[in-house]
Amino acid sequence: MSAKIISGTEIAQQIREEIKKEVEQLKKKHGLTPGLVTIIVGKNPASVSYVTAKQKTAKELGFYSVQEDLPEDVKEEALLGLIDRFNKDNTIHGILVQLPLPGHINETKILYAISPDKDVDGFHPVNVGKLMIGEARFYPCTPYGIQQLLIRSGVRIDGAEVVIVGRSNIVGKPTAMILCQKAEGANATVTICHTGTKDLAFHTKRADILIVAAGRPKAITADMVKDGAVVIDVGVNRIGMTPEGKAKLCGDVDFDYVKEKAAAITPVPGGIGPMTITMLMLNTVKAAKVAANLV
Ligand code: NAP
Repeated sequence: MSAKIISGTEIAQQIREEIKKEVEQLKKKHGLTPGLVTIIVGKNPASVSYVTAKQKTAKELGFYSVQEDLPEDVKEEALLGLIDRFNKDNTIHGILVQLPLPGHINETKILYAISPDKDVDGFHPVNVGKLMIGEARFYPCTPYGIQQLLIRSGVRIDGAEVVIVGRSNIVGKPTAMILCQKAEGANATVTICHTGTKDLAFHTKRADILIVAAGRPKAITADMVKDGAVVIDVGVNRIGMTPEGKAKLCGDVDFDYVKEKAAAITPVPGGIGPMTITMLMLNTVKAAKVAANLV
């Protein structure tokens, strides 16, 4: 039997409708408009398309949104100065610096400079630490999107064997940290795999929920998946161009074969991608409410 396809596009749209209504209420009742600034350095095509999508979504949801385009050779001090300005700007509640940054800029220094209160990407060490101890204000967007996708698809996380392939600081590790918390929508038994894992298939075949964020096209084949598993494919791999000149994408999971074995699976594109942007918006609304003492 073919798996249920979990549409990130549809679930993200539902959440966006909820956010739009909440933003209308915040404006009407409290005169509060969530503000998001996106900062991009250079013209990396993937980064430009991500930032454009984030800005477009912010505008559609009624946010106050600002985009700062900086040249590739911008000095680190200039970027730090801009962040400092937005840290002090009361109309801005979320600051997003699009990664990766050019080699001459110290990425860690930049991420640390963003006020933890406006760190809507959830990458500041203060927020990472809070996530670890179960007191997170902002979950990093992709892991948050994964959790919401599971919850809203009716997948039981509590008590599940979750196996995550990938241990990056932006996907693998925070996803594990969210799903192992003693909390609603979590409480799973989590295993993290990486290139040092001796027998990857041994672990993936045990998973009730398999989350793959390796950045390797079709790394997970059908023989590595348990019958009836839920498979979340985070990978986005560019594997050529479509006849229309758009990037052709595939995930880390061999979708056509794995879907015949899994109970549910996310597609690429249309799975985690739209959820990530939506969670950025949710975090920005939360940052605005925290700033206005509404939560
Ligand atoms: P990353 O920093 O490159 O990390 C990849 C992780 O996968 C590493 O921990 C690596 O292990 C592990 N890995 C790679 N190949 C493996 C293999 N064959 N077996 C076991 N583990 C393996 O990547 P990332 O930033 O987490 O992103 C992962 C993928 O998700 C990428 O395709 C990225 O484009 C995509 N992504 C999508 C979204 C979205 O919104 N849709 C957001 C973020 C990322 P080591 O640590 O041992 O090297």
